[in-house]
Amino acid sequence: MIYDVLIIGAGPAGITAAIYAKRANLKVAMFEKDTPGGQLSKYNEIENYTGAKKVAGYELATMMIDHAYELDIEVIYDEVLEVKLEGNLKKLITPNQTYEAKTVIIASGNVPRRLGVENEDKLAMNGISWCAICDGPLYKERKVVVIGGGNSAVEEASYLATLATHVTLVQNLDFLTADKKAQDILLKHQNVDIYYGSTVNKFLMNDQGLTGVEIKTKEGLKTIDADGVFEYVGLIPVTDFVKDLGITDKWGYIKANEKMETDVPGIYAAGDVIVKQIRQVVTAAADGAIAAQNALKYIETWE
Ligand SMILES: Cc1cc2nc3c(=O)[nH]c(=O)nc-3n(C[C@H](O)[C@H](O)[C@H](O)COP(=O)(O)OP(=O)(O)OC[C@H]3O[C@@H](n4cnc5c(N)ncnc54)[C@H](O)[C@@H]3O)c2cc1C
Repeated sequence: MIYDVLIIGAGPAGITAAIYAKRANLKVAMFEKDTPGGQLSKYNEIENYTGAKKVAGYELATMMIDHAYELDIEVIYDEVLEVKLEGNLKKLITPNQTYEAKTVIIASGNVPRRLGVENEDKLAMNGISWCAICDGPLYKERKVVVIGGGNSAVEEASYLATLATHVTLVQNLDFLTADKKAQDILLKHQNVDIYYGSTVNKFLMNDQGLTGVEIKTKEGLKTIDADGVFEYVGLIPVTDFVKDLGITDKWGYIKANEKMETDVPGIYAAGDVIVKQIRQVVTAAADGAIAAQNALKYIETWE
């Protein structure tokens, strides 16, 4: 069977693309290798998605995926490992099967960047986390360190300050880059310390796991005791599976025009994975809609 559209990723961009494609009567399926809803399902609250007011990330994610299920959109819980071209046909290879489609919409988003310092890999998911909403409750009445100074770090540090006894924020710059509202909320917490102009030297551990973080401050090395660490130091695009198609920039982001077309006819990209100015839920959803509409036009002339 040849699908009209196969979508890689069930985050806000992929789900929106799937909804538009299904409502245009296309034969569509969406791949998801992890949690449907994408990054959205992993953070605390969202306050800037039009009409949703203040909503938990997982709630909005659930509303989105429920919308897709209500329209009988097929979701394939599998990881796309490679996209190959055979003339006009696109082949999507997963560990279990190969799928064929006239068009593909890549909506695979980003994953958190790691610091690459000593003991980080050993403690990943076991002392070091990238998701405060998932792992924050483990550190109730304990001490945590948050790395970063952008919106993600500052907002998640505020959330953690409501659970942990103490939060230390480590920021490499001499100021926070989060918006003013997020900074104001964080600075109201009495149990938060911030080290500016400081970087992580290594994570400290014993047989039981993480014990602290060694940071390099302007005054020299300093050890911060910690039961948990949360890293928010940027994101990297998930595009390994199209690395041979020549559609990415030097950082791995997919280059797409205003129609969400990539340099390969019939392959579209949407959401955080593309080169763009603002990576947010609302822009990801908008990209998904545009990609699906243009995939529809392409399919009308597909031979
Ligand atoms: C901590 C944090 C806080 C944020 N706060 C806000 C906020 O308040 N407001 C806001 O608007 N935005 C916020 N964002 C940004 C927002 O989450 C993203 O812009 C949005 O989720 C992007 O959607 P997407 O669909 O492009 O990608 P994603 O949400 O990343 O979804 C991509 C999906 O693709 C799947 N996938 C990847 N590769 C494959 C593959 N090979 N095969 C199958 N599936 C695959 C992934 O598992 C994932 O589910 C925040 C992000 C973070 C990290």
